[in-house]
Amino acid sequence: MMLSAAETLALILSKAPLLPAEHVPLADALHRLLREDARADLDMPPFDCSAVDGYAIAGGETLFEIVDKIQAGSAAKVPLAPGQCARIYTGAPIPAGAERVLMQEEVRVEGGHIRAPIAGTGTNIRRRGENCARGDVVVAVGQCLNPSSLAALAGCGITEPLVTRLPRVVHLVTGDELVDPACKPQGAQIRDTNSTLIAALLAAQGGQLVFYSRVPDRFENAMECASHLERIDFDILLISGGASVGDHDYAKPMLEKAGFTIHLQQTNIRPGKPLVFASRGRQFAFGLPGNPVSHSVIFQLFIVPLFFAMSGSASVQTAAIRGRLESDLPLRPIPRETFWPSYAHWDERGFVVRPLRFQSSGDAAGIAGANGLMRLPPWQGPLKKDDSVNFLLSAGFL
Ligand code: AMP
Ligand code: MG
Repeated sequence: MMLSAAETLALILSKAPLLPAEHVPLADALHRLLREDARADLDMPPFDCSAVDGYAIAGGETLFEIVDKIQAGSAAKVPLAPGQCARIYTGAPIPAGAERVLMQEEVRVEGGHIRAPIAGTGTNIRRRGENCARGDVVVAVGQCLNPSSLAALAGCGITEPLVTRLPRVVHLVTGDELVDPACKPQGAQIRDTNSTLIAALLAAQGGQLVFYSRVPDRFENAMECASHLERIDFDILLISGGASVGDHDYAKPMLEKAGFTIHLQQTNIRPGKPLVFASRGRQFAFGLPGNPVSHSVIFQLFIVPLFFAMSGSASVQTAAIRGRLESDLPLRPIPRETFWPSYAHWDERGFVVRPLRFQSSGDAAGIAGANGLMRLPPWQGPLKKDDSVNFLLSAGFL
């Protein structure tokens, strides 16, 4: 009995270990998971300051003498007495004696004085600690750091946050038919596209490639490679190609030789049915079917959520939406769930899903531009334009 996509994912996640934490500079912390609460080391803002460019006034008169000028980064030179004001700029400290700040658009300057309106618009003062007080949690443990949260950490003086370290990935590429993309294939050769694909997927998803090698389709080379793995410190091993049951498919024997336990050899999805999943202690291995489209789909369905789980993230599932089909889809019912690379966009009636060219799972060019996967149940028959479909969003992973 083959596992469904959901069961396969549950199996993989049930074994996912939490990776250790490390301190990294803010510049390297984007998209990492924060492993401890980040707290403010100061009240923020640290002093009462002006929210606008204008005039800080004391007292309730309408004519004020300008006695000071306070720029952001400098302090008031004199306290204000009733009837006095100070030219002040956004972010500059409020002088003693000031009650509020008038926006410069609201006043008329008359020589060394300003004439103020009877009623102003609020105080225009940002009070000390109004954003947060010293000791408050500014970014909570478990958050994936985005640009705004990095800025919030910088505001607390946290320049080396504690985050989950990146998964260390080994990528082995099998296939005697493969040549480097810079070469012109001869005869039965084809260009290797999976090395580029996996490198880009890791870059997009935050995986560190610690070892990469091409492995010839021979048993001895597979065994030699299995021994070499002992000398590498890694979390996840990805083997491209050779995951099936052909005479020259050595992903499984290689993993067995290296002491991995095989948990899965197939999953009930199209594309990507021959999928080897194995583990050895805290290490995971995947034997991926060589077709580039299968690589993309398996990476999005299983490996991206695994990365999230290993980072300690509470939400690991890909976001799903519903949309309507842009055109008829003449499907032949098959007993597998189908994940069809597609492009979803928004029009005035909601999401529209455009299935991309996907004749064969070898056609990487056909799915270029996909932003997710249309998810179709087993035995799905032909669909019509405007039929409602499920769509898994991928943030640029395909
Ligand atoms: P395999 O899973 O090794 O049986 O390969 C399945 C199909 O994917 C074959 O047509 C291979 O030629 C193709 N393929 C395997 N590896 C790659 C690769 N690195 N780049 C492009 N195509 C590949
Ligand atoms: Mg092969």
